[in-house]
Amino acid sequence: MATAAKADGFNPNEVKTPVGNFLGGQYVPGDGTEYEVIRPSDGHVIRAERGASANLVDRAVTAAAKAYKTSGWAALPPRARAKVLFRWADLIDQNLEELARLESLASCRLINETRHFDIGFTGETIRFFAEAIDKLDGKVLASEGKVMSMVVHEPYGVVAAISPWNVPLVLAALKIGPALAAGNAVVLKPSELTPYSILRVAELGHQAGIPAGQLAVLPGLGPETGSALVRHPLVNYVSFTGSTATGRQIMVDAANTGLKPVCLELGGKSPQLVFRDAPSLDHVADIIAGNICFNAGQVCFAGTRLVVDEKVGDELTEKIAARLKNPKPGPTWDTQTTLAPIISEKQGARIASILQDAKKSGAEIVMGGEREATGNGGVFFKPTIVRKTKPDNAAIINEVFGPVLAVQSFHDVEEGIALADHPIYGLAGAVHTSDINKALLAAKSIPAGTVWVNTYGELSLNAPFGGYKQSGFGRDYGMDGLAKYMNTKTINIRLN
Ligand code: NAD
Repeated sequence: MATAAKADGFNPNEVKTPVGNFLGGQYVPGDGTEYEVIRPSDGHVIRAERGASANLVDRAVTAAAKAYKTSGWAALPPRARAKVLFRWADLIDQNLEELARLESLASCRLINETRHFDIGFTGETIRFFAEAIDKLDGKVLASEGKVMSMVVHEPYGVVAAISPWNVPLVLAALKIGPALAAGNAVVLKPSELTPYSILRVAELGHQAGIPAGQLAVLPGLGPETGSALVRHPLVNYVSFTGSTATGRQIMVDAANTGLKPVCLELGGKSPQLVFRDAPSLDHVADIIAGNICFNAGQVCFAGTRLVVDEKVGDELTEKIAARLKNPKPGPTWDTQTTLAPIISEKQGARIASILQDAKKSGAEIVMGGEREATGNGGVFFKPTIVRKTKPDNAAIINEVFGPVLAVQSFHDVEEGIALADHPIYGLAGAVHTSDINKALLAAKSIPAGTVWVNTYGELSLNAPFGGYKQSGFGRDYGMDGLAKYMNTKTINIRLN
């Protein structure tokens, strides 16, 4: 077992994890189905946890509805609310090392990344939305002389937030930060696979001054805790990030239990559209290889389809393959690791099964295509390139959520742009070319929420991010990511 701490890494056996559900400013024990939280790095069971039952969900949502009405949070002057959120962000920064270890322990996030990105970005997300609260203006409308017509924004009330395991803290912060800034009360169900870091962050929020009941975190299984939360009659808005299949179920449940508004941030199968006049194939290869390996490909916007001009396809594929040869698989707590584990046995088996189907329908595995035998109990998958894939090949159609790049080639610009358009997903994509006309034509033609040109994966807190097609709807980040947590009211006043 590779559990020993490197000098600058950490010893996973020494990490203290929060126990229970965070509710009313304190931890209360779970009372639902028991499940094991496992370290993906080595398969070690951290602890058996009990999720929140429908009863506990009811208790948290009822407390949130009460807090929304009575805590005074929504009625605070916006800058007073911001002050609490700033304090919270500062506490997150001050507890960086503890949070980085908690995040790396149960997830696939490497300690180098949680220390240098995830925790800082979590604090920055909360800061960004704190700063934005008093920048979201209402309107005074043109109206008849004796009428004053105004548009104002109001919080929904109780927001149910459900988040996934792949970048656990950041994705949860992108919900609780803006929803609380807008004045709502929030009940969050994080992924049952990665419950610990966000519990501790919620505790810090309470310490910063968020009133009891205004924020609850209830880990638990999706069909039990998550479903009870979505269907609760006192929930006014549902914010979900996760797979397209679960998003569909959540939309059905929200529609059937009050017609609650939902926003869905779902899966992707994003294209890297490379024209023969790309500024530098070496640079493009760096970008694509780096992106495929980041979090072992377990990223919603991973650029997993290389759609490349046939004139440069082989040369670029070779360059990418050369860069994917020597990643270092290992535990998340080892600072030497460069290839993260796959989250679970189930996910490892799913990746292998999609590749089997891809081969059956004629695809060629250029490299990888199987697990790394590290022998340490974790699931690791070799960086993989698949080519000779027809548009209906399993490696093209499915979001693999592993370090797998599928190659498609095209003959002319129109064909390239047509292939970049995925039949199901539309989360993101990139165009690589030195021709500004081609870049803009492709950027405008690809139906996706974000398109990068000659770069990939840069996210900015002020830039809306979200999906077209079955990648979802609604936007995280930016003013859109705040506005969605507010309803719009028109007030007409007849002046006497
Ligand atoms: P998932 O859909 O399996 O689970 C997401 C969350 O939903 C978890 O907390 C889970 O417990 C919960 N859940 C499951 N069933 C539920 C139900 N019936 N009712 C309520 N909640 C339920 O997704 P995952 O495997 O955790 O995450 C990976 C997926 O998330 C990928 O498809 C990825 O692309 C997507 N994702 C999207 C974005 C984005 O911004 N678009 C960001 C990150 C991840």
